[in-house]
Amino acid sequence: TPYSDYIKGVIRTVRDWPQAGINFRDITPLMQNRAAFRKLIDAFVHQYQEQEIDAIAAIDARGFIIGAPLAYELNTSFVPVRKKGKLPFKTLSETYKLEYGEATVELHADAFQAGERILVVDDLIATGGTMLAAAKLIKRVGGEVVECATIIDLPDLGGSDAIQAAGFKIFSVCS
Ligand code: 5GP
Repeated sequence: TPYSDYIKGVIRTVRDWPQAGINFRDITPLMQNRAAFRKLIDAFVHQYQEQEIDAIAAIDARGFIIGAPLAYELNTSFVPVRKKGKLPFKTLSETYKLEYGEATVELHADAFQAGERILVVDDLIATGGTMLAAAKLIKRVGGEVVECATIIDLPDLGGSDAIQAAGFKIFSVCS
């Protein structure tokens, strides 16, 4: 998008957080800057306003920050993909590997109707494990994954390649 460099410029890199050797991409300055936050949501709206989308599936928790305004603007429903143990009703779950250990994401079994067109959103793709697990959950409930959208892709970690190799499309505002 024409604002990729601008948005990239307001994302803060925090060295050695949450542990030594990790450079954490902190989006709080982007949300704090009202012009930048608006441009960010507009970039997603512009990308998807001509497409047929029934629901935004947003990933716990930073995905919610972009998913909710996007669902409002695109006039779609909003579906939370949550970390294990947060959803109260009947759920499906996907477990994936982290560098150390594993993580699980969950989706309500009745989150949408089979055949609905779903856009998956999160703030960042690193190894791609989280986004891929969410996309798989959506397929298992019978949804059609339109695309996986993110603010930041870290291509050196290979996550976006792995997601595409699994047959899903990717959109990122910056990398
Ligand atoms: P992945 O599963 O692709 O390895 O990691 C992506 C998930 O972890 C996303 O849900 C994202 O919110 C979180 N994450 C991992 N690294 C970072 C980071 O540097 N910055 C932010 N904002 N989120 C991160």
